Amino acid sequence: MSFQNPVFIPGPTNIPERLRKACDMPTIDHRSPLFGQILHPARAGVRKILKSETAEVFIFPSTGTGGWETALSNTLSAGDKVLAARNGMFSHRWIDMCQRHGLTVEIVETPWGQGLPADRYAEILAADHAHEIKAVLATHNETATGVKSDIAAVRAALDAANHPALLFVDGVSSIASMEFRFDDWGVDVAVTGSQKGFMLPPGLAIVGFSQKAMQATATAGLPRTFFDVRDMEKGYANNAYPYTPAVGLLNGLNEACTMLLDEGLEAVFARHHRIAEGVRTAVRAWGLELCAASPDLYSDTVSAICTPEGFNATDIVSHAANTYGVAFGTGLGEVAGKVFRIGHLGSLTDVMALSGIACAEMCMADLGLDIPQGSGVGAAQDYYRANPAPAKKAAA
Ligand SMILES: *Cc1c(COP(=O)(O)O)cnc(C)c1O
Repeated sequence: MSFQNPVFIPGPTNIPERLRKACDMPTIDHRSPLFGQILHPARAGVRKILKSETAEVFIFPSTGTGGWETALSNTLSAGDKVLAARNGMFSHRWIDMCQRHGLTVEIVETPWGQGLPADRYAEILAADHAHEIKAVLATHNETATGVKSDIAAVRAALDAANHPALLFVDGVSSIASMEFRFDDWGVDVAVTGSQKGFMLPPGLAIVGFSQKAMQATATAGLPRTFFDVRDMEKGYANNAYPYTPAVGLLNGLNEACTMLLDEGLEAVFARHHRIAEGVRTAVRAWGLELCAASPDLYSDTVSAICTPEGFNATDIVSHAANTYGVAFGTGLGEVAGKVFRIGHLGSLTDVMALSGIACAEMCMADLGLDIPQGSGVGAAQDYYRANPAPAKKAAA
């Protein structure tokens, strides 16, 4: 690997200099008002990014996976039933975590490359007259396949059935990069991490709890200690944690929220969409297909690109690392060897994206695929020239 090149994995993402500096702090007393001046603005910033007025935001020294566990262990009891679709590696892992926690999972098997089947959720919820289903799990952006799902449709399925189940949304690879509406979608727990849209090093689980989810913490029976949001809430009231917080990362999170909110959330989403469209234009020019089955499912944060039958897509990823010092994502689970992934989220410019497209093109040609050099780059250049980034307010 070369530290000069951007990474094109779908997280951890490239860290802007400003955020690296913000994370690099002298030691402070983490039970002091000074710490509160970092913690509380960071929580308020996250709440704005979630588009919520009322969510309780909790930040753990952990990763997105710890955020999943926070959602489950604080609201559910052993034997509770949850509804989840499996359409990729990340939804699969969350289901696996539910099962290991002694929950009963009604799994809707969904082809990888498809979005969450809100219509199936609607049927299952409507048939659950006894309200045995306590929570519905939804992976907003399936990072393994580059598929975005319609969370508003999942909320509509719950509402149509007048069903009281909690709605948990994995937004690890969407929040802070793609439209996310905690309040409007009636989300009860939103989960993310520091190392994707927030452009920080890994190390924080970031969750938002609705008031309804907070109420569920009083009756939930699953054991929890490290991820207990009630302990966290008590700590926050005293500018502290129940244990030692990741102070530097929290300072970075505060700064990341400032950066994102200064740019404007709609501008952040539009930037991700433009960059992603450039990548997708290149993929079309290569004559390759995305794993995502239709344009309404295309993720603006990651593209999973199918390679021809008989070709091992993972070779592209190893070759890029070994020969050009560039990181792409491999295919995971069912699509291992069939796709490679270009992550295009976080701190990225048109020119950085073009370098990734150029590198992927070189690798595919080196490995014998019939990809004319410059085909994808040229198509993406045309797209970026025709759809330029808006003028910057100030140099970033
Ligand atoms: C990255 C990711 C996770 C896992 O997060 P970690 O921070 O690696 O624990 C979960 N869900 C999705 C959709 C992701 O992209």
